[in-house]
Amino acid sequence: MTQLLERDGYQAVGAPQQASILIVNTCGFIGPAREDSYSALHTLAKAKRPDQILIAAGCLTQRYGAEVARQVSGVDGILGTRRWMDIVEVVRQLRKKPTAAKGLRQAQPLGSELRPEPLYHLPETPTIGTDENGVLRACIAGASAYLKIADGCRRPCAFCAIPLIKGTTVSRPLETILDEARKLRNLGVRELILIAQDTTDYGHDLSMNDGLATLLEKMTTSVPDMDWIRILYAFPGYITDRLIDVMTSHPQILPYLDIPLQHASPATLTRMRRPANIDWVHTTIAKMRSKLPKLAIRTTFIVGYPGETDGEFQSLLDFVEETRFDRAGAFPFSFEAGTASEALGDPIPAAVKEMRYQKLMELQQSISLQINQSYVGQTLDVLIEGQDKGIAIGRSYRDAPEIDGYVVVEGKAETGSIIPVKITGAMAYDLTGIPAPLT
Ligand code: SF4
Repeated sequence: MTQLLERDGYQAVGAPQQASILIVNTCGFIGPAREDSYSALHTLAKAKRPDQILIAAGCLTQRYGAEVARQVSGVDGILGTRRWMDIVEVVRQLRKKPTAAKGLRQAQPLGSELRPEPLYHLPETPTIGTDENGVLRACIAGASAYLKIADGCRRPCAFCAIPLIKGTTVSRPLETILDEARKLRNLGVRELILIAQDTTDYGHDLSMNDGLATLLEKMTTSVPDMDWIRILYAFPGYITDRLIDVMTSHPQILPYLDIPLQHASPATLTRMRRPANIDWVHTTIAKMRSKLPKLAIRTTFIVGYPGETDGEFQSLLDFVEETRFDRAGAFPFSFEAGTASEALGDPIPAAVKEMRYQKLMELQQSISLQINQSYVGQTLDVLIEGQDKGIAIGRSYRDAPEIDGYVVVEGKAETGSIIPVKITGAMAYDLTGIPAPLT
């Protein structure tokens, strides 16, 4: 949306007071995310001047557009996820709108329930539009960039509202992705992070066979000088032998995999409508670890899913203990109306969910610490992201941005460079080290 608006002559500004158009790209997939979105909207709506336009866009508005308008007085436009590429037209219409809306708002007596209707742009289209008007579907952060390869999801996970928000999977054309990868490399990006709701489903809707493996193979020849290619969000059950082979034979593709497993008890997984074949998980992880000995695996779990017994939770703890993930995150179950699990309710008390969450995270922290300690004395390449007071901060191949840890490096190092670092210390999440001589 930023790129489209900039192309139309708009400029990003540093503070809401300086803006003529205020856009909140909301998140709405679980309760806390919705609360954050509402809080941002309320703050802006409260301080909004009559000459400013406030647009609520994104996931929350796709599902709950009318509710957003009801709760936040002062929203002028409601734009969902499916047609975000119409942002310029939405802004144009709102600017033209004689601002009946604004007039009405000003004429209203204080405390009146009468509110101007916002402009709704929520067409009944089932999938996200592909007419992206040539915008770069990437978010650049320093020397790293998230590159979207598909949007939407066709999996049936019972707890998840994302397919309701985004619609089914729409893969982006392979050539478009490769072209964007080249552009990002030319902009100086050194780490490309491929994202989608489910990256392993890439290309299914384009009739591709093993689409992610194909995309990765082509990407390594399209951007041979991209230092790191990282894959996030692989769905269990869909990591193919070919994908493992491609990861094994191309050093650019980091030996890192984020595979959200959500649980380990087959009974819980069945209620979640997720792949429940834990043998597959064991076999696949063993296969990957034998082919990629340096492999770092991140996963995510939900605790307190409806019906999760003490025994089911214990089997999750046993699994975590046995499998020894480099990183694992957890979320207490968040009830979402309209999802397939709605009928199961939310029977597990919040205190039990919290206790299970703490127990799981404590176990994982001790595992992460032990694994981190095994790196002391080794040398890792570190992508430097910033520095302060004689210390540089960066990430190794084991750390995805924002969710994993850091490597804290003593001394100066250029931001954006990738340097060898000798690891001298380990904590549960982060490592410390000193620059190692180049070999
Ligand atoms: S794969 Fe992920 S995004 Fe898709 S339905 Fe399952 S949890 Fe939701």
